[in-house]
Amino acid sequence: MHDHAIREFPNECCGIIIGSATDPSSVEVRPCANIQHELKEKYPHLYQRDADTGYFVDPKELMTIFDEAARKKLDIVGFYHSHPNHEPYWSAEDHRAAMWAGTEEPSFPDAYHIVISIYDGAVKSYSMYMWDAGLKLFTCRESGALPLP
Ligand SMILES: [Zn+2]
Repeated sequence: MHDHAIREFPNECCGIIIGSATDPSSVEVRPCANIQHELKEKYPHLYQRDADTGYFVDPKELMTIFDEAARKKLDIVGFYHSHPNHEPYWSAEDHRAAMWAGTEEPSFPDAYHIVISIYDGAVKSYSMYMWDAGLKLFTCRESGALPLP
Protein backbone atom coordinates (compact mmCIF):
# COMPACT_ATOMS: atom_id res chain seq x y z
CA MET A 1 0.00 0.00 0.00
CA HIS A 2 2.86 2.29 0.97
CA ASP A 3 4.79 1.61 -2.26
CA HIS A 4 1.64 1.81 -4.35
CA ALA A 5 0.84 5.29 -2.95
CA ILE A 6 4.36 6.45 -3.86
CA ARG A 7 4.21 4.92 -7.37
CA GLU A 8 0.92 6.63 -8.21
CA PHE A 9 1.74 10.04 -6.71
CA PRO A 10 0.53 12.74 -7.54
CA ASN A 11 -2.50 10.61 -8.41
CA GLU A 12 -4.56 8.66 -5.92
CA CYS A 13 -3.82 4.95 -5.65
CA CYS A 14 -6.52 2.44 -4.78
CA GLY A 15 -6.69 -1.23 -3.97
CA ILE A 16 -8.39 -4.09 -2.23
CA ILE A 17 -7.32 -6.26 0.70
CA ILE A 18 -8.48 -9.87 0.67
CA GLY A 19 -8.09 -12.45 3.39
CA SER A 20 -9.77 -14.43 6.09
CA ALA A 21 -11.36 -12.20 8.72
CA THR A 22 -10.25 -14.69 11.39
CA ASP A 23 -6.67 -15.18 10.18
CA PRO A 24 -4.58 -11.97 9.91
CA SER A 25 -1.70 -13.90 8.27
CA SER A 26 -3.94 -14.62 5.25
CA VAL A 27 -4.24 -10.97 4.27
CA GLU A 28 -3.09 -10.04 0.77
CA VAL A 29 -3.01 -6.62 -0.89
CA ARG A 30 -4.27 -6.28 -4.45
CA PRO A 31 -3.28 -2.91 -5.99
CA CYS A 32 -5.84 -1.75 -8.57
CA ALA A 33 -5.73 0.65 -11.49
CA ASN A 34 -7.32 4.04 -10.81
CA ILE A 35 -9.35 4.76 -13.97
CA GLN A 36 -10.65 8.14 -12.75
CA HIS A 37 -8.62 10.01 -15.38
CA GLU A 38 -10.02 7.88 -18.23
CA LEU A 39 -13.55 8.37 -16.89
CA LYS A 40 -13.11 12.13 -16.75
CA GLU A 41 -11.74 12.21 -20.32
CA LYS A 42 -14.55 10.05 -21.63
CA TYR A 43 -17.50 11.35 -19.57
CA PRO A 44 -16.61 14.90 -18.43
CA HIS A 45 -20.24 15.69 -17.58
CA LEU A 46 -20.39 12.70 -15.19
CA TYR A 47 -16.89 12.76 -13.67
CA GLN A 48 -15.58 16.16 -12.68
CA ARG A 49 -12.70 14.92 -10.58
CA ASP A 50 -9.39 13.80 -12.02
CA ALA A 51 -7.13 11.06 -10.62
CA ASP A 52 -5.31 13.47 -8.28
CA THR A 53 -8.50 14.06 -6.29
CA GLY A 54 -10.48 10.91 -6.92
CA TYR A 55 -10.31 7.23 -7.63
CA PHE A 56 -12.40 4.66 -9.41
CA VAL A 57 -11.31 1.03 -9.37
CA ASP A 58 -11.33 -0.56 -12.81
CA PRO A 59 -14.50 -2.74 -12.67
CA LYS A 60 -12.80 -5.57 -14.59
CA GLU A 61 -10.08 -5.73 -11.95
CA LEU A 62 -12.69 -5.56 -9.22
CA MET A 63 -14.44 -8.63 -10.65
CA THR A 64 -11.14 -10.52 -11.03
CA ILE A 65 -10.30 -9.87 -7.37
CA PHE A 66 -13.81 -10.80 -6.20
CA ASP A 67 -13.55 -14.04 -8.23
CA GLU A 68 -10.15 -14.81 -6.72
CA ALA A 69 -11.46 -14.22 -3.19
CA ALA A 70 -14.49 -16.43 -3.84
CA ARG A 71 -12.32 -19.20 -5.32
CA LYS A 72 -9.92 -19.12 -2.35
CA LYS A 73 -12.83 -18.77 0.10
CA LEU A 74 -11.44 -15.44 1.31
CA ASP A 75 -13.30 -12.28 2.28
CA ILE A 76 -12.97 -8.73 1.03
CA VAL A 77 -11.53 -7.46 4.33
CA GLY A 78 -10.53 -3.96 3.31
CA PHE A 79 -10.04 -1.21 0.79
CA TYR A 80 -7.39 1.48 0.58
CA HIS A 81 -6.69 4.66 -1.33
CA SER A 82 -4.37 7.62 -1.01
CA HIS A 83 -4.89 11.36 -0.56
CA PRO A 84 -2.05 13.14 -2.42
CA ASN A 85 -1.11 16.37 -0.61
CA HIS A 86 -4.07 16.00 1.77
CA GLU A 87 -4.66 14.59 5.22
CA PRO A 88 -6.13 11.08 5.57
CA TYR A 89 -9.66 12.32 6.36
CA TRP A 90 -12.86 10.51 5.38
CA SER A 91 -14.35 12.67 2.63
CA ALA A 92 -17.96 12.93 1.48
CA GLU A 93 -16.74 11.29 -1.74
CA ASP A 94 -15.19 8.41 0.25
CA HIS A 95 -18.50 7.93 2.05
CA ARG A 96 -20.40 7.88 -1.24
CA ALA A 97 -17.94 5.39 -2.81
CA ALA A 98 -18.33 3.00 0.14
CA MET A 99 -22.13 2.84 -0.17
CA TRP A 100 -24.38 1.00 -2.57
CA ALA A 101 -25.10 3.59 -5.25
CA GLY A 102 -27.79 6.02 -4.16
CA THR A 103 -28.34 4.41 -0.76
CA GLU A 104 -27.13 4.87 2.81
CA GLU A 105 -26.20 1.17 3.05
CA PRO A 106 -22.47 0.35 2.99
CA SER A 107 -21.59 -2.16 0.27
CA PHE A 108 -19.10 -3.91 2.61
CA PRO A 109 -20.25 -3.19 6.19
CA ASP A 110 -17.49 -5.35 7.75
CA ALA A 111 -14.58 -4.09 5.65
CA TYR A 112 -12.08 -1.50 6.82
CA HIS A 113 -11.02 1.45 4.69
CA ILE A 114 -7.46 2.74 4.91
CA VAL A 115 -6.73 6.27 3.71
CA ILE A 116 -3.06 7.08 3.15
CA SER A 117 -1.82 10.66 3.30
CA ILE A 118 1.12 11.31 0.98
CA TYR A 119 2.80 14.70 0.60
CA ASP A 120 5.29 15.41 -2.19
CA GLY A 121 5.75 11.69 -2.83
CA ALA A 122 6.43 10.74 0.81
CA VAL A 123 3.85 8.78 2.80
CA LYS A 124 3.08 10.73 5.96
CA SER A 125 0.25 9.06 7.87
CA TYR A 126 -2.83 6.89 7.56
CA SER A 127 -6.28 6.52 9.09
CA MET A 128 -8.49 3.45 9.18
CA TYR A 129 -12.28 3.79 9.04
CA MET A 130 -15.03 1.29 9.67
CA TRP A 131 -18.80 1.38 9.46
CA ASP A 132 -20.57 2.07 12.74
CA ALA A 133 -24.01 0.48 12.40
CA GLY A 134 -25.35 2.40 15.41
CA LEU A 135 -24.24 5.83 14.23
CA LYS A 136 -24.73 4.91 10.55
CA LEU A 137 -21.41 6.56 9.78
CA PHE A 138 -17.85 5.56 9.00
CA THR A 139 -15.75 6.36 12.06
CA CYS A 140 -11.98 6.47 12.48
CA ARG A 141 -10.75 3.42 14.41
CA GLU A 142 -7.03 3.90 14.08
CA SER A 143 -4.61 6.44 12.74
CA GLY A 144 -0.93 7.11 12.91
CA ALA A 145 2.33 7.80 11.20
CA LEU A 146 4.58 5.25 9.51
CA PRO A 147 4.91 2.32 9.28
CA LEU A 148 1.62 1.28 7.78
CA PRO A 149 0.06 -1.78 9.42
ZN1 LIG B 1 -10.53 9.68 -0.07
